[in-house]
Amino acid sequence: MGAGRLGALEVCVRDLAAENLDGLGAGELDVQLRLLRHLVDRLEAEAIRRLERFEMLEGPRRAGAPNPVAYLQHQCGLDVGPAVQRVVLSRSRETLPALTAAALAGRVSFDQAAIIAQGAAEVDVEQAPVVEQRALELALGGAYPERLRHLTKAIVAEVDREVLSRDARRAHTRRSLHIGRDINGSVRVEGLLESETAAYLRAATDAEMGPRDKDDDRTALQRRHDSLHNLLRRALGGGAGFSAGRAHITVVAPLSAMLGEDGPPALLQGLVPISREHLHRLAEQGTLSATLVDANGREVYSGKARRFSAAKRRSMAARTGTCEWPGGCDRPAEWCDGHHVDPYAEGGVTAAANGELECAFHHGLIEREGWGIVRRPDGSREALPPGHPENPTAGLVEFAEASLPVAVGSAAGPPLTDTG
Ligand SMILES: [Zn+2]
Repeated sequence: MGAGRLGALEVCVRDLAAENLDGLGAGELDVQLRLLRHLVDRLEAEAIRRLERFEMLEGPRRAGAPNPVAYLQHQCGLDVGPAVQRVVLSRSRETLPALTAAALAGRVSFDQAAIIAQGAAEVDVEQAPVVEQRALELALGGAYPERLRHLTKAIVAEVDREVLSRDARRAHTRRSLHIGRDINGSVRVEGLLESETAAYLRAATDAEMGPRDKDDDRTALQRRHDSLHNLLRRALGGGAGFSAGRAHITVVAPLSAMLGEDGPPALLQGLVPISREHLHRLAEQGTLSATLVDANGREVYSGKARRFSAAKRRSMAARTGTCEWPGGCDRPAEWCDGHHVDPYAEGGVTAAANGELECAFHHGLIEREGWGIVRRPDGSREALPPGHPENPTAGLVEFAEASLPVAVGSAAGPPLTDTG
């Protein structure tokens, strides 16, 4: 390893730090940020390549650390979680060659690589390449880390049918909720919720929050706090009638999962894989809104109404549980508007398969700024700016109509609007 190369890199970094950013526009900064992130990820991959060899040479011990995780913590300033991620990656370089090559070439980010290596480490050595290959495909297809984590877990669950049950048993044992003491008017609440409990909490507070008003200056965290306050007050009879059933959780399950056969696991809110026992418990409680999907994950339904029905919205909400903007967005599906991919004005049907849920911000980009979403034959999707030749909404006259509130949930939920 030439200290010369790293020395040259250090000079480059120093030059970057000396650069005046005043003259840079948003477009230029966008390009620079993406490139910098890409380079940081590739440097991480290089550090991990060296860590593997360092461990082989008993480097951590020679540097006075009992193991590589402790070395990364104390000599390199990493927190324990990130240190473990790097050691897992360095130790799987030989067993996961495709992932290693993709990370070194910068085709997947460090976080994506860490998630895949973690998933592969959860199954038997012979099965690791299966997890590696399938999860890598998803990462190369653009699955962002949080989504990739759940999708990788679903792959792990297909390979090892018991893993979700084991996870669930562990989560059940570890479940806790601690309400601390009141200190100067604030109380710290901490705990480990089971997935289902957390899904109820999120769905209930999302539904209570609704989309943010223009002149609401509370932060998202403050709004969630206030919605929990309102829910609890109503539950204790301190307000107007408690609207039970307003919040809604959804499970997407292939038929094989309902029948307890081998295959992909059921997904809570269309995202988080759950065990068979968990699926059956939910089914028995009768709180399920079922979405039947075919072998390709598509639900088949069509109609010719302009407005997406509550059932169609539930189908769409079950796909990702969030706004479906191709660049990625975390806003919950309950806050989103139904959008026709093939525009309604050009004969696009009002079917879940032709609909996408977009949050107010992203729907605004389509409605007001002329962005469009294309779906390509290979299944990939892309958001195209106004004026792009492939933009499907180019030249269309958009017509917005006054809309009635329609709920995603089983009773009155936050108002949702539709436009083509
Ligand atoms: Zn969005």
